[in-house]
Amino acid sequence: MATLEIQSVKKTFGTVDVLKGIDLSIEAGEFLILVGPSGCGKSTLMNSIAGLEDVTSGDIHIGGTNVTGLAPKDRDIAMVFQSYALYPSMSVRQNIAFALEIRKVPKEERNREVERVAELLQIGHLLDRKPSQLSGGQRQRVAMGRALARHPKIYLFDEPLSNLDAKLRVEMRTEIKKLHQRLKTTIVYVTHDQIEAMTLADRIAVMKDGEVQQFGTPQQIYDDPANMFVAGFMGSPA
Ligand code: ADP
Ligand code: MG
Repeated sequence: MATLEIQSVKKTFGTVDVLKGIDLSIEAGEFLILVGPSGCGKSTLMNSIAGLEDVTSGDIHIGGTNVTGLAPKDRDIAMVFQSYALYPSMSVRQNIAFALEIRKVPKEERNREVERVAELLQIGHLLDRKPSQLSGGQRQRVAMGRALARHPKIYLFDEPLSNLDAKLRVEMRTEIKKLHQRLKTTIVYVTHDQIEAMTLADRIAVMKDGEVQQFGTPQQIYDDPANMFVAGFMGSPA
């Protein structure tokens, strides 16, 4: 669990300013939700935090360390995307343990981690299956398991539930909330689902066209939207 500071982050692709100066300060253990219309720069911001994209200017600090320019592996983050990206030839157990294996974590410790994560996510009965033998929801749990096994300082979730059907989405949302309460980790979570945002977030950042329009608690955003865009987007009664 760590703080995350995003300071004046700009990102330009060619001549297009996709992030126009983002400032966000996230507390250790906080659940931050990023919302905004498609194309507003949410994934670009996530990829910048992860180090998958270099920022054009600005700084990113994780746990007080300036990580701007560091490779993803040196940032101590774990990402979960909407596409599950599991290794198809590996069992669930191997998928979860793999990130630990390449970090040379001893076998007994890897096994302990797999058991811990399986218990948290209730996938103990699936450990010997291959990804092709799992449902979409089960695959998403395994993807989360891989992230949890690494004990990162920060979790980045980019629309992790958007490929699931509505019923499963609500179920997973509840589980993610419980996980956060139990683990008290710092999470940045992108969704375009306003209800998901309202139910999961400690604070919400509403983005539009590469800028943060409002950053506040769900209650603040609902009761006191900063402008017409926020009011319309979050369905507030302004
Ligand atoms: P969101 O996740 O909010 O839907 P993205 O961050 O994916 O938005 O994209 C923001 C804008 O940046 C879009 O206009 C998109 O076309 C553009 N963009 C994203 N990645 C690239 C890239 N690698 N090269 C050029 N343009 C990009
Ligand atoms: Mg996106």
